[in-house]
Amino acid sequence: MARYTGPVCRLCRRERMKLFLKGTKCDTMRCPIERRPYPPGQHGRGRIRDSEYLLQLREKQKARRIYGLLEKQFRNLYGKAAREKGITGENLLRMLELRLDNVVYRAVFASSRNQARQFVRHGHVSVNGKRVTIPAYTLRKGDVVTLRDKAKRMIVIRHNVDVLDRAVPQWLEVNAGEFTATVRDLPIRAQIDVPVREQLIVELYSK
Ligand code: SF4
Repeated sequence: MARYTGPVCRLCRRERMKLFLKGTKCDTMRCPIERRPYPPGQHGRGRIRDSEYLLQLREKQKARRIYGLLEKQFRNLYGKAAREKGITGENLLRMLELRLDNVVYRAVFASSRNQARQFVRHGHVSVNGKRVTIPAYTLRKGDVVTLRDKAKRMIVIRHNVDVLDRAVPQWLEVNAGEFTATVRDLPIRAQIDVPVREQLIVELYSK
């Protein structure tokens, strides 16, 4: 499946906040948001007229960029969320959180969702004992994600597990020694710490 391959720091600057797309660089002073906290481009520092549509669009773009989806993938996922019972915005965030690449990132095996996606694509991840190479694979309650033997020996992964200081969400149970992560429960909104107002996304797509 296609993915965005352009410069990612521009995406953070466009949203005027850190989206943590680059891994370890994001926590250092080399993060461009620290030096240039305004949108990229010639008119980045110009006056922007806030409209309702613009707010909704920015919220959607932010969510899409945090999880690394293209517009079509995001729109399709929204369609699925809208067909499910419950609050559409929360359904959408829950589905995004349960993507396999996101779970590998949340389990702190990867420094960014992009890196997690690469691990999955390269066949380093199993779900319930079977190799899965689809980053968008949706996990269910009780699923066990394991890194394969070769991945457990990879320096980059061992480094991530040893060094990254990121809290694991409550809905996930991680055994760092065994390199496994179990979906203990389906995530609820209060456990999803992304700075997105999902209601605005629903309003945008409901037009
Ligand atoms: Fe965003 Fe990270 Fe780049 Fe900073 S370093 S702008 S947080 S991707």
